[in-house]
Amino acid sequence: MRGLALHWKILIGMVVGILLGLAATAIDSPAFPAQQWVVDWIKPFGTMFINALKMIAIPLIVASLIKGVSDLKDLSKLSQMGFRTLGLYVVTTLIAVLLGLLVVNLARPGMAISNETRENLVEKFSHKASDKEASAGAQKEKGPLSPLVEMVPDNVIRSAADNGSMLKVIFFAIFFGVGMILVEPEKSAPVKLFFDGVNEVILKLIDLIMLASPFGVLALLAALVVESEDAQLLVALLYYGMCVVAGLLIMLLVVYPLAVVMLTGKSYGFFLKGILPAQMLAFSTSSSAATLPVTMERVEEHLGVDREVSSFVLPIGATINMDGTSLYQSVAAVFIAQVLGMDLTLGDQLTIVMTATLASIGSAAVPGAGMVMLVVVLEAINVPAYGLALIFAIDRPLDMCRTAVNVTGDAAVTMVVAQSVGKLGHSEVKEWDDNYPVE
Ligand code: ASP
Repeated sequence: MRGLALHWKILIGMVVGILLGLAATAIDSPAFPAQQWVVDWIKPFGTMFINALKMIAIPLIVASLIKGVSDLKDLSKLSQMGFRTLGLYVVTTLIAVLLGLLVVNLARPGMAISNETRENLVEKFSHKASDKEASAGAQKEKGPLSPLVEMVPDNVIRSAADNGSMLKVIFFAIFFGVGMILVEPEKSAPVKLFFDGVNEVILKLIDLIMLASPFGVLALLAALVVESEDAQLLVALLYYGMCVVAGLLIMLLVVYPLAVVMLTGKSYGFFLKGILPAQMLAFSTSSSAATLPVTMERVEEHLGVDREVSSFVLPIGATINMDGTSLYQSVAAVFIAQVLGMDLTLGDQLTIVMTATLASIGSAAVPGAGMVMLVVVLEAINVPAYGLALIFAIDRPLDMCRTAVNVTGDAAVTMVVAQSVGKLGHSEVKEWDDNYPVE
């Protein structure tokens, strides 16, 4: 095992975790409650692993953004990179939404569900859907400019204590970095030295946490399998799920490769090999925020992006750029409308483009967030939000896939931005494991 590259170890952890979950489900009986055993004795290790990643997210954002922005030395560089980053994020999100609409309109998965299955689905999941509706309703009441208002923290210490307020922390860190550029160099030098050091230490902590990642994903997936819902209903939704996955695969295998190859000159194999462990972790955790530390380390150490760029582009991407989520939201919205027998006009489809783009930007980088924000898309096209109940059963596996795409999109854009500002190196792929004398 020792010489194996990290992505293989994670893959083995995933497979063993799924097999363990399946085995526990198969042998579960009152005499030997194997599923409960997995929940009691295996799942906590997965929870500890995710917690460790989340624990590091806010300190990482603060240290790396402050370092990243203050490294820029002058503000024109910052605005140049900022505009490119935001522009590319919006463009990739729009491509994803349009692709989702294309797939779902061509395949029409909503027509494949029988009346009986539909009633079953609605009945089984409607109470869960109303919870999501309530939280999305709270989001909507805040008014059109609320996403902007919410970017500015009224108390940065309080925001830093809440992983859901990452955008606020990002705002503060960028602002602080700008302040450092503007004061006299002798004054900012010690502050800079401090944050540079903190940044190094945090990156080292991430390396250490990642040593546990094969075991972490094993525990997460085993628990997911034993806790998953009734498989029969999942099959009924397979066609819809396949549409989402098909769209996501096109993003992964066509859109990003084209962008990376054409705009950076790197080969897609290089890109994929470098980012693979982050994709696997995104898949296992369903959270771009929890994956962020690893995405950063992969992009810097393995894809050759200068830290000056990655530390700025990636934290923003993890919070606002969700190509997989926006694609999923467009497919899901049209699917639900199809199942409910509602015809969508061209205007409705354009509304989906707008709202899915905004809803994905507004989705938090945590499991299930894309589904909560889907309510906003549904309401905009007058599809009843209880339709969420239809897709509930299959949301978690799709969340895992879309999160992997979200993270890949962030990495691809980071490479393109780095190339455009001359900060993409010719990095040879360094094996993570070589750094550690792990016995
Ligand atoms: N889980 C996704 C993410 O963290 C968000 C979503 O639910 O689509 O990127």
